[in-house]
Amino acid sequence: MTQKKYFPIIISSPSGGGKSTVCDEILARRNDVAYSISYTTRKPRKNETDGVDYYFISREKFNQMLKQDVFAEWAKVHGHLYGTSKKVVENVLNKNKHVILDIDTKGARQLMSAYPQSLSIFLFPPSMKELENRLRKRETDNEADIQLRLKNAKQEFADATDYDVLLVNDDLDRLVEKILEIIDNKSLK
Ligand code: ADP
Ligand code: 5GP
Repeated sequence: MTQKKYFPIIISSPSGGGKSTVCDEILARRNDVAYSISYTTRKPRKNETDGVDYYFISREKFNQMLKQDVFAEWAKVHGHLYGTSKKVVENVLNKNKHVILDIDTKGARQLMSAYPQSLSIFLFPPSMKELENRLRKRETDNEADIQLRLKNAKQEFADATDYDVLLVNDDLDRLVEKILEIIDNKSLK
């Protein structure tokens, strides 16, 4: 029998593209996948919990961790610093689980070179109009933040060529089923 392989699963998209939603769905359906909780200097939004959604830290602490070479990847995104701890990734893989990461395109590139066995997936929104609708409906960002996120989406689309798989986040259920099928095919190869 083929030995099942475990690897990082990178999910990227522009802000509002559905990364958190897709990660949550996958985590709810599968117990062989665990989430990589990132470190960030961004302030928590309502409904976000420290140690669950992110480890919320100061810039000073982030810079100290950078010097200590804690991060497998890090990037400045929409004006805040975000990073993935090497230890978090290794701990999950050592437990024989896939580790799923919701990270930006600059960080994804670093993670792909640190873990060449990664599966990288970029999610496109059905349209720019729908992306804007979803960002507004989410009610987590102010107008300036929404405009910044829509502007940054253009560069993120250009970076999508780095990814193994490009998918459109239209019907959520069908998208999640497709991603699970891709994960299973790769893990048994
Ligand atoms: P991201 O984590 O990429 O910033 P979210 O997962 O927060 O994006 O999704 C942005 C908004 O769009 C959320 O309100 C979410 O419920 C909604 N959303 C995500 N996927 C879909 C979909 N397939 N159809 C409709 N709404 C969606
Ligand atoms: P948000 O602040 O909306 O949760 O996330 C903003 C952006 O930061 C998203 O594109 C998200 O994927 C990215 N992000 C979250 N955590 C990390 C991380 O650890 N590293 C990198 N490079 N990007 C991250």
